[in-house]
Amino acid sequence: MDSFSQHCRQEADTAALAQRFSEILGQFLIAKPSSHINISLEGDLGAGKTTFARYLIQGIGYVGRVKSPTYTLCELYPLILVSRHKKVVVTAHHFDLYRMRSPLEWQEAGFSEYFDLPGFCLIEWPEKADGTLPPFDVQIQLSAGMDDEARDLTFTARTDQGIQILTMFAPTTL
Ligand code: ADP
Ligand code: MG
Repeated sequence: MDSFSQHCRQEADTAALAQRFSEILGQFLIAKPSSHINISLEGDLGAGKTTFARYLIQGIGYVGRVKSPTYTLCELYPLILVSRHKKVVVTAHHFDLYRMRSPLEWQEAGFSEYFDLPGFCLIEWPEKADGTLPPFDVQIQLSAGMDDEARDLTFTARTDQGIQILTMFAPTTL
């Protein structure tokens, strides 16, 4: 499975989708605790990128406030993932690159190493980096629909690891 779309009629649907995606990410990271998953969040202002990231980070077990990284460019969240036989500690990094003044500002800010750490990165406004970011495993595109609360989300796998993740994620939505 390398791509699928889902229509969300209201915010609760987006929340449920983010929650299910977080469960798959959690399972993947428990199985492969040293892996890093790179996820882009693309779409216009107000499309729901931060909202999706917030439900995802809370869905995977972070207890506390998930702020928009608009001013800091990056917020990090330590996560403890627990299964019956294992406990895994990983980190989520949530970026919003909208306010970068030049495409390489993320490197100058010392963020490069975050893309290798066990866990995952969520990147809003990746286009601001003008192709300088490491490759995305999964690209998530969000767009607003006719109704105020309607959104369409498209998930596309861009690497073998991304395909593995979407294959775990997609079937139950059919
Ligand atoms: P972005 O980060 O893409 O600029 P935000 O997540 O900050 O967007 O804002 C999206 C806004 O739309 C939030 O106020 C959220 O409550 C609202 N919203 C309404 N319906 C939905 C939906 N189905 N999915 C996501 N957000 C929604
Ligand atoms: Mg945002």
